[in-house]
Amino acid sequence: MSYVDEALARVKKQNPDQPEFNQAVYEVLESLRAVIEKNEDTYRRNALLERLTTPERIVMFRVPWVDDKGQVQVNNGYRVQFNSAIGPYKGGLRFHPSVNLSVIKFLGFEQVFKNSLTGLPIGGGKGGSDFDPKGKSDREVMAFCQSFMTELYKYIGADTDVPAGDIGVGGREIGYLFGQYKRIRSLYEGVLTGKGLTYGGSLARTQATGYGLLYLTEEMLKCNGKELAGKTVVVSGAGNVAIYAIEKAWQLGAKPVTCSDSTGWIYDPEGIDVALLKEVKEVKRARLTEYAKARPGAVYHEGKGVWSVKCDVALPCATQNELLLEDAKTLVANGCFAVAEGANMPTSLDATAYLQEHGVLFCPGKASNAGGVATSALEMTQNSQRLSWTFEEVDAKLKDIMVNIFHNLDAAAKEYGMEGNYVAGANIAGFLKVANAMDAQGIV
Ligand code: NDP
Repeated sequence: MSYVDEALARVKKQNPDQPEFNQAVYEVLESLRAVIEKNEDTYRRNALLERLTTPERIVMFRVPWVDDKGQVQVNNGYRVQFNSAIGPYKGGLRFHPSVNLSVIKFLGFEQVFKNSLTGLPIGGGKGGSDFDPKGKSDREVMAFCQSFMTELYKYIGADTDVPAGDIGVGGREIGYLFGQYKRIRSLYEGVLTGKGLTYGGSLARTQATGYGLLYLTEEMLKCNGKELAGKTVVVSGAGNVAIYAIEKAWQLGAKPVTCSDSTGWIYDPEGIDVALLKEVKEVKRARLTEYAKARPGAVYHEGKGVWSVKCDVALPCATQNELLLEDAKTLVANGCFAVAEGANMPTSLDATAYLQEHGVLFCPGKASNAGGVATSALEMTQNSQRLSWTFEEVDAKLKDIMVNIFHNLDAAAKEYGMEGNYVAGANIAGFLKVANAMDAQGIV
């Protein structure tokens, strides 16, 4: 049996009830076959893949808090510190009812390669809770965040592990978490990123993942003889990533015509009105029906459906496994020629394969959504320097990073005879740096 197959079998046997984690490991190791086989004996002797697929540390904890009725609630808290070979653990916190160990491990595993691709010194981790901030009062969210941090603070620090936001964790939650950390530790340090601008946050962090997605998409199109300007873009999601992807798509001359949330989606033939979308989602925290009410030309549909809209470019920006095989077939039939993931693992494995087989340019999230974590690393740098850069400085660095990421994965794919396979390219480029660092640091 090849070493990759041995490693995959081991992960499956040890984590039989973790489908998302198994899916992520399978996708990465399959595309690393050519690289591993070149060095198979050394990697096997050093148990490189076993170490790569086993988190350095998993912390699981109880999060008790009191709701507005005086009832005690209990949620599960997680922090998976996956790999610190190239820097302190770095990765977001997700608060969503679907959070479990499998989801956090899949996200932490992906984060290792994503962070490596940015070219910045950050290891991979992820955390979160099955707490649902939706429908909770500000006081309840604060009570939860304070309880969560009262346990988490033991394991994190500016040079150890630096969490950030993710689904359900935005500026409000980061503020409460930071306040509690500072209070417990009596330490003002850059322990979290995504902070508010008045207390150590970086300009352009809010926009970074969505903007970065579009910078990379534009570069991918350019290097394939196409251009983004004038194209119709379909976007899923209506959160942080989707909103700023839509904003930057407009700025680059494209026309984004859809967005979605967990209950329905909008088709706006005139193009999504970003100011209105921000008002509905960032200010009112309302459903997309409010968008349709304020915009007569737009149509609201219940359920899923953005991938049925004819487009040139598709940007899944909501959540994992939201673009399935049937959706991929519809996109291809409608002439879509590029898909770049804003969310983490939004495209299922069979849908990815279908898109690639049908000549669609496909960029995986670990590369195309790396702008968020890259800018978080720039926030860490600014915190260490006790300086703040201007929006333009951060944005220019972000653009450089995204363009470099694309060229690195393009070159890695070519080097290993898989030209145009950006999934393989991203995994290979991300893997080699981490594997070299692990090798140099001995058996730890
Ligand atoms: P937000 O919480 O801001 O937004 C998520 C959006 O997706 C919301 O519109 C939400 O709808 C929708 N959504 C969430 N879960 C589901 C579901 N199960 N089915 C359908 N729709 C759903 O999160 P972000 O925009 O920050 O994150 C989106 C994705 O991007 C995630 O995969 C995240 O891991 C990834 N990502 C985020 C980064 C960041 O910097 N924010 C960085 C890199 C990756 P509703 O409003 O109804 O909840």
